[in-house]
Amino acid sequence: MAIVQKAAPRRATITEGHDADRRRQRLDRGNTRWRTFGSVHPRQGSGRRRELLEHQAPRVSVLSCADSRVPPEMVFDQGLGDMFTTRSAGQVLDSSVLGTLVYGVDAFDTELLVVLGHDSCGAVKAAVEALRTGELPPGNLGYLVGQVLEVVETVPEQETEKAFLDACVRANARAVAEQLRHEPGLREAVAAGRMKVEPARYDLRRSRVEWLDDASGGEGGIPAPRARTG
Ligand SMILES: [Zn+2]
Repeated sequence: MAIVQKAAPRRATITEGHDADRRRQRLDRGNTRWRTFGSVHPRQGSGRRRELLEHQAPRVSVLSCADSRVPPEMVFDQGLGDMFTTRSAGQVLDSSVLGTLVYGVDAFDTELLVVLGHDSCGAVKAAVEALRTGELPPGNLGYLVGQVLEVVETVPEQETEKAFLDACVRANARAVAEQLRHEPGLREAVAAGRMKVEPARYDLRRSRVEWLDDASGGEGGIPAPRARTG
């Protein structure tokens, strides 16, 4: 027989929560490679492309900002078929974004759904500006900013505007994650323990992803990177 038997059929029994944690650890290792300039660009060669011709099975979904400085596959150093990625400015949800995420969970048995915000987010800045001026931009942009504004309005004032902006970034990723945990089509997988939804924040200066539901930051004791080199 010329057919190569692929190993690793789906596990019949899943230890609750553990798969998501393993997925997250893999993302952590990728982010460590990225921020220390050691990316290996895994699973992108001809073999992988052939392997993916007929089907995909990404067990990780990522909802990230559209910001050009935060491409999820790069900051997590992942390959083709690894992550089902949806992007919208400020990770704002609408029917299409939600539909995309639900599709991913349905089709690929998503184990980990990451909501990836970042510092210096233009969408969050626009919402803070709307809070200060009382004015939203017109049209669809107004919808987008208005969605983030709903979160920003709940964030306590901070000592500096920079600190307030960062508090808003964190609150926004957390709020989106919390909403996703309760969305029809997603909440069932969360309630059954098949999927975790994890908010995270990418730090542009340090190229580092921080898990917002972790007090520790979720990097398992990996030392901080050397001083930034620009
Ligand atoms: Zn952004």
